[in-house]
Amino acid sequence: AAIRVDPECVFCRIVAGDIPSERVHEDESVIAFKDLSPKAPVHVLVVPRTHLRDVRELATEPSLLAHVASVAGDLAADLADGDFRLVFNTGAHAGQTVFHVHAHVLAGGELAEGEM
Ligand code: 5GP
Ligand code: ZN
Repeated sequence: AAIRVDPECVFCRIVAGDIPSERVHEDESVIAFKDLSPKAPVHVLVVPRTHLRDVRELATEPSLLAHVASVAGDLAADLADGDFRLVFNTGAHAGQTVFHVHAHVLAGGELAEGEM
């Protein structure tokens, strides 16, 4: 299926390469890059190439949701000790600021309870 693009969306622009990012993974359906303001020693975002608003929309494509989780685990193993926290902020009240779904992968060292 063709990927959906929102020209106003910052993560669509990162996927397109119009905005630079420090990529740590890319494949046909997702990219992953370092968060601009890291909240943990390893803080990367796993982002489907297609423009979906949030994890509720991503859940309508179960294989893509599973792939996001799988890539997150691989990156935690490559970049840290394998342990990680996977966070989808969903909706403004939950702290979502970019409305193109992204999984926060937080890893490295001891993560405090309640940290993100
Ligand atoms: P949210 O608050 O929507 O769950 O997370 C958005 C995340 O994207 C934030 O952690 C923020 O630091 C990160 N972010 C926002 N804009 C950019 C950008 O242009 N480049 C990168 N690498 N991260 C970004
Ligand atoms: Zn987008």
